[in-house]
Amino acid sequence: MEKSYRTGKLVNKVLHGVDLDIESGEFVAIVGPSGSGKSTLLHALGGLDRDYSGTLEVDGRDLHKLSDVELSDYRNREVGFVFQAFNLLQHLSCRENVALPAQFARGDDIPSPEQAAERAAEMLGRVGLEDKIDALPNTLSGGQKQRVAIARALFSRPRLMLCDEPTGNLDSKMGNQILGLFRNLNEEDGITVLIVTHDPRISEIAPRTIRVEDGQLFDAAKGDAPPEDEPEDEPEDEPEASEAAAR
Ligand code: ADP
Ligand code: MG
Repeated sequence: MEKSYRTGKLVNKVLHGVDLDIESGEFVAIVGPSGSGKSTLLHALGGLDRDYSGTLEVDGRDLHKLSDVELSDYRNREVGFVFQAFNLLQHLSCRENVALPAQFARGDDIPSPEQAAERAAEMLGRVGLEDKIDALPNTLSGGQKQRVAIARALFSRPRLMLCDEPTGNLDSKMGNQILGLFRNLNEEDGITVLIVTHDPRISEIAPRTIRVEDGQLFDAAKGDAPPEDEPEDEPEDEPEASEAAAR
C-alpha cells in the first residue's frame, strides 16, 4: 500500500508502496523513528483511514471494497485499539468505560445492558482489575488505566489488537505488566497483536519486529536484517564443505 498526506498543495508521501503479510496469531512489534508512518500504517489496518492506495486484505477481504457500514463493523467487532493516551471517560466507572463499545454494536451484536455489564466485568477480570469495577478512572494508576483501556478493546472479542505506543506513558514496572498482558492475550487467546513501540523491551520479546523507515518496511523475520547477523543461527558443527554443497 501507498499513503500520502495532502496539505494544501503539499504532498507528503509517507508509505512508499509497502508490502507486508501477517499471519493470524502473530505478535509483531513495529518500530521506527518518529514520523516514519507507524501510526499511519496502524490506522489503515484498523479501518480508521481508507485514504490510501493499494490493497489491505484482512481474512481475504479487501478493506477498500467494504462499504462504510461493513468497515465500521470490521472496526467494532474485529479490531481492538489501544493507544498511548488511555482515552477513558473520567465520569464513567471502569465497568462503564469497558462497556462503551456496546454503544456501537448493531443488529444481532447488540447486548442487553445486563449482558454488557457482565461482559465488561469479565474483561476487567481478564486484565486483573476485578476489584476496580466501580472505580472512577482518576483513582487508578497509569498501568491500571491502560489495563481498563485494554479491557475495553477486548469487549467485542476482537481477533486483532492494534496498539500504538501502549507503554509510552508508563514506568518500566507498569510497562512490563502491560507487556505481559499482551503476551497472554496472544498466547492464551490467540489474538493477533501488533504493537507500535519505542520500547526496546517489546521489540526484544516480540517474535517478529518490523521496522518502518524512509517509507519502507524492513522485516527482520524475512531476512532483511544485515547479513552479518545471520551466522549466529548456524549449527555449531560446521558441515563438511561437500555436504554443504550437496544441499
Ligand atoms: P509515526 O507514528 O511513525 O510517528 P505518523 O504515521 O504519525 O508517524 O506520521 C507519518 C508522517 O505523516 C509524519 O510526517 C506526519 O507529520 C504525517 N502525518 C500524520 N498524520 C497526518 C495528518 N492527519 N495530516 C497530515 N500529515 C500527517
Ligand atoms: Mg505514531
